[in-house]
Amino acid sequence: MNKPKMATEKGVPSNSRVMMLLGQLERMNGEAMMRDVETARQVTAKICHLIQTQEKSGKEVMSKGSSGMEVILASLENTRDVQTTLNIFYILSELLTVGEGRRVGVFVSKGGTGILFQILITASKELPPSEELMLQLHSLLAKVGPKDRKFGVKARLSGALNATVNLTKQNLQNTKLLLPCLQVLRVYSTNSVNAISLGKNGVVELMFKIIVPYSKKNTSLLKVALDALGALLKSKTNARRAVDAGHVHVLLALYQDWHHNDTRHRHMLIRKGLLVCLRNITNIKLGRKALIDADGMRILYNSSTECLPVRTLDPLVNTSSLIMRKCFPKNRLPLPTIKSAFHYQLPHVPAVGPVAQLYSQPPGGRKLHQLCDRPLKKVDDVVDESDDNEETDADTENDTDNEEDEKDQHTANEDIETDLNKLHPKKNPGRPFEELRVYERFFLELSEDFQGYNFEPSKNASTTSSTFSSTRSTRPIIVPTAQALSPKHVPITSNPTKGERTLPSALVPTPAPLTPLELDTIHLTKDQDRQEEAHIPSPDTHTTLSSLTRPPSEAQTIEQDLAHVLECVSLVAEGHTGEEVGWGVKQEGSSVNATRHIQSPLLLEGIANRRVGGGGSNWGSDCGSEGAEDEGGDGAVLEVPDTALLLPLHDPDLYVEMVKGTHSVPQYAEVAYPDYFGHIAPTFREPLQERVYGVQRSKIFQDIERLIHPNDIVDKVVYDLDIPSCPVIEDNGESLKFNSQFESGNLRKAVQMRKYEYDLVLNSDINSNHYHQWFYFEVSGMRVGTNYRFNIINSEKSNSQFNYGMQVLMYSVQEAISGKPRWVRTGTDICYYKNHFARSSIAAGGQKGKSYYTMTFSTSFSHKDDVCYFAYHYPYTYSTLKMHLSKLEALRTPQIYLRRDVLCETLGGNSCPLLTITAMPESNSNDHICQFRNRPLIFLSARVHPGETNASWVMKGTLEFLMGTSPLAASLREAYIFKIVPMLNPDGVVNGNHRCSLSGEDLNRQWQNPNPELHPTIYHTKSLLQYLAHIQRAPLVFCDYHGHSRKKNVFMYGCSVKETVWQSNISATSSDLQEDLGYRALPKILSQIAPAFSMVSCSFVVERSKESTARVVVWREIGVQRSYTMESTLCGCDQGKYKGLQIGTRELEEMGAQFCVALLRLKRLTGIRNHQHLLDLESDIIGTQSKVVSSSPTTYVMEEDEPSFLEAIDYSAESNDEDAEPETEHGIEVQENPNHLDQLSDCETNHRD
Ligand SMILES: [Zn+2]
Repeated sequence: MNKPKMATEKGVPSNSRVMMLLGQLERMNGEAMMRDVETARQVTAKICHLIQTQEKSGKEVMSKGSSGMEVILASLENTRDVQTTLNIFYILSELLTVGEGRRVGVFVSKGGTGILFQILITASKELPPSEELMLQLHSLLAKVGPKDRKFGVKARLSGALNATVNLTKQNLQNTKLLLPCLQVLRVYSTNSVNAISLGKNGVVELMFKIIVPYSKKNTSLLKVALDALGALLKSKTNARRAVDAGHVHVLLALYQDWHHNDTRHRHMLIRKGLLVCLRNITNIKLGRKALIDADGMRILYNSSTECLPVRTLDPLVNTSSLIMRKCFPKNRLPLPTIKSAFHYQLPHVPAVGPVAQLYSQPPGGRKLHQLCDRPLKKVDDVVDESDDNEETDADTENDTDNEEDEKDQHTANEDIETDLNKLHPKKNPGRPFEELRVYERFFLELSEDFQGYNFEPSKNASTTSSTFSSTRSTRPIIVPTAQALSPKHVPITSNPTKGERTLPSALVPTPAPLTPLELDTIHLTKDQDRQEEAHIPSPDTHTTLSSLTRPPSEAQTIEQDLAHVLECVSLVAEGHTGEEVGWGVKQEGSSVNATRHIQSPLLLEGIANRRVGGGGSNWGSDCGSEGAEDEGGDGAVLEVPDTALLLPLHDPDLYVEMVKGTHSVPQYAEVAYPDYFGHIAPTFREPLQERVYGVQRSKIFQDIERLIHPNDIVDKVVYDLDIPSCPVIEDNGESLKFNSQFESGNLRKAVQMRKYEYDLVLNSDINSNHYHQWFYFEVSGMRVGTNYRFNIINSEKSNSQFNYGMQVLMYSVQEAISGKPRWVRTGTDICYYKNHFARSSIAAGGQKGKSYYTMTFSTSFSHKDDVCYFAYHYPYTYSTLKMHLSKLEALRTPQIYLRRDVLCETLGGNSCPLLTITAMPESNSNDHICQFRNRPLIFLSARVHPGETNASWVMKGTLEFLMGTSPLAASLREAYIFKIVPMLNPDGVVNGNHRCSLSGEDLNRQWQNPNPELHPTIYHTKSLLQYLAHIQRAPLVFCDYHGHSRKKNVFMYGCSVKETVWQSNISATSSDLQEDLGYRALPKILSQIAPAFSMVSCSFVVERSKESTARVVVWREIGVQRSYTMESTLCGCDQGKYKGLQIGTRELEEMGAQFCVALLRLKRLTGIRNHQHLLDLESDIIGTQSKVVSSSPTTYVMEEDEPSFLEAIDYSAESNDEDAEPETEHGIEVQENPNHLDQLSDCETNHRD
């Protein structure tokens, strides 16, 4: 294969002619060169001839080990003869043309560039300089420049910049020489310092002279001049210079000329070059203004629209779009303040932190007098235009060309914890046991002796259960516990009047008229069967719901069911006044609420009315329930899904009961249908949505059209929480109606922008001025078959899975009542991009000039008079949790030990449930009791972040598995004691927050030092763990369930000293690295059994920014080695069985169940030493070590909730990146999976079952 190369090795004399000549040249070096000009000319000419005519000669000169290049460069340096110099130039020119840059590399490394610059300086002193020499010299420089990273600096230091500039100025008409000069100037200009210097020397003006006026002559010259100009205009000083000289107008006119004349698109690059100049000029405010003044928006919009049909012109459309986005006038959000529309008065304000900051500003909470037409306060939503540090070019001193890359690598690593002391778990609870002793009451199972308990196998379930209950109730429990199984006991509140709510008699109408419903979907027989079944009394529902008791039996018709529904869905909160302690809503607000409840849009007759009235004149009016009665027709039958039957653990009646005991800051009196009916996961697949080519661009163009065609703009507010008396605004039926005044709802404002397009603004987390991402709202008054566009305009994250296949969730009430109560993934033309609404620096963590992001989707509705709901992810309210827990309690068998305590009350007055699940001991014999008490503990929690509803669905799966009857579940209960806090942040969930609790803080950043008043759930959960640590019963596994908005699959974050040290490059002794690999076992097992779980996405690095999260604190302070965060995707999977599918509740619940199964396997592994499985596992673990070290950044730069994401799509309208075309659709796929390759290799090495 390998052909031996002749004359390559050093020392081997070559007999080739070219090498002989080079040898001769070498011997001439020095004085001989000067003396014997003629010979030098001859030798160089011969070499030149050989290289020009024989390819092999060039190869010999450039071959490895050959000193050919040194000899040539030395001759070049020594000769003073123009002809010899030229000959050498010809030689170099020939040599450097081939070799894909390697030869240029050799040339540069031997100092060639510097020699060329020296010759340039010398030659330019001669008047006039030799044209041929200059021509060849610049051609060479142009060839070498792009490959020499220090080219710009060398040029400036040697004085070559001016030499080239002067030469250019003197040869504007001499195209032959002008071209290489421009090529060299283009390279000079890429250095930012040079750009400024060249600008001062008039090079910007010079370039304009070359590119204007429009002419198709010398297009290659034009192209180079535009490139150089584009580079020069990156300097803000130069950009300002160009604006001052009126060149924006010139560029636009020229662009139009080219656009009109280049009909066959042969000069795309010139057109692109002009746009690049405009793009760079508009980086400064002055430039943006000039562009708008010169009608640039319309010019670019029109030309782009004409380019759209030609795919090859995409770069033009994309660059135009980028410029237009930048120039689009920045707006404020249409809000009186960005602080949450609701305010909760905290018991005390923390001294520091985001809330303190918020409180230090003038009050801006919701007040009645603060109407939306009040002038905008500038306090908290200042428009920052500070992207214009025009004082100096920030990059003046920057000579390294790839500083950016270095920066990137830096941020990737700087979050890793490098303090070895912090990396070693301290296992010091830090609190005296006396303080923790009170938590003993939450661990009755550790002292339970079951002496009064009857273990007779003959006992039936209910007796056993009650015996057990009574056993429990004998114990003094000071902290209120939810001792009751029946829902009537559930609304335990500190203030008994709070729970007391009655139904308005006016709202119990006769059955609603329902004629227009699709009768063909109704199957009476089947339905009756269902009804009968449904009325087998179940112990924990009907019997206790006195106010809602269904009429007993036979006579019960579907209509009665309906009436029943009506009753349930409208809640009246009686005696709701603001005086209750801790309720932050102002008195006025409450009275408003008190009247508002009657107009519940959730009444079913509302649906009928809207159908008839074609737009719902009754919507929101107090008389909604009348009128409806006449229209019915006796044939009207509505099939109400008995979701209690379809969903064994759902009960609409019970749900309503639960809502009554739930306390929200806005004092919601309505129930959203989806939460009432429940959700049955669809049986069909919901694939990740393929992104339509150019979707972002077309959405942006539609946004820009708002400026171009202002007459299309309706700009009508249709929903506004800042007008508390009437958030739903009456209208003539031309608009959709919005509502989100129910648990977990958070729509603040809806503005109809065009006939079928709405801008939606989400409410901030309470006591905060940001964190918008989660949404949940209701829409009605729709037209069938019309495509509506919805834009959520104040999203904050810089990227979203909505760009990668995720769809929004929609729930149709019409579908639900026709037997399909379910959330479905919906929406087309979905994308997520930076918009023109400015974020105040206060809400952007001090960063100035940030914008919000738009999450846009389009959808059409298939039912007339429907009420539809949209949500970010499958909702799971606090009331749903309470309902679910009650239903779970009913599943208890004599073998199950289940206790439900109230860990504490939240700030908002909601109780935080704590569950204990294990198996009952077999008997009260010593052995059995001992085994019972000594089971290892598993501690689980979820939903600290309210917007991560998927965590609750995973928790639901875990709980149902644990309460199940399978042998696996039984073994699991026998193996462990489970302590579970299923919802760490009930207040956040209730009030529709995305991230925080009522204190306006992220509770998962409070674990180091939780405040008992402000963060009670965290404080007490941590105390439980501290108590356990004190009594030497720290849990075997701690896991906090979360949701991840920017990654696919399900994965875990854990804590490992070793892996942290590996990633951080800190030096550590081997003793520092002594670590049991046990932390990897659970995720490893999960990756083998849970289809959604991905091991490659897991990470075990301890980050500084996460030091106050549950995972890190439980690991470090409690000493739990297996302390995890489990992250479930909001989007879908890109591996395993669910690859290509969006995730649904079934998959999430399955994940929760698989987590339990994995714990059982973990038990076996940890229980049996030297077992083959353990060895396999360990070898797997060892196998992964090397991979971890060399893994791609995403696996070690982990952030619990928001990983830094490679921006595949150009979100940043301020982007300066030459090559980054917005929406290179292909690029998305590639970049989105940075560890794609890793995954492949992982599949190859670790065959997963
Ligand atoms: Zn989270």
